[in-house]
Amino acid sequence: MSKKVLYIEDNQDNMSLVVWILEDEGYEVVQAWTAEEGLELLARQSVDLVLMDISLPGMNGMEATRVIRADQKLAAIPVFALTAHAISEERGRIAASGVDKILTKPLDEEELVEAIRDQIGT
Ligand SMILES: [Mg+2]
Repeated sequence: MSKKVLYIEDNQDNMSLVVWILEDEGYEVVQAWTAEEGLELLARQSVDLVLMDISLPGMNGMEATRVIRADQKLAAIPVFALTAHAISEERGRIAASGVDKILTKPLDEEELVEAIRDQIGT
């Protein structure tokens, strides 16, 4: 059975690109357009990894990660942040929210696939 990745992203282009890349690698991708929608999905189905955009309408990716980390049933799920914010202070704040890895946009396809493969396999 293929590994399942939840991608929380409000940008259509990024969503399409990452879904295309990951499905091509054999992953199943569940899409959520807001953090709220993503958290709702996590409450109903199990996923192997969460890809979390940081800038989202409503709840942002750091807040959503803190919710995941505070929930006993979800706390162990790997969360990778996707962000265009490259400055180190911002990275520190993102890391402190509990993400396992920070990937910067524009996304490097190889880096994304390798990071996911290292974390959850294929
Ligand atoms: Mg965004």
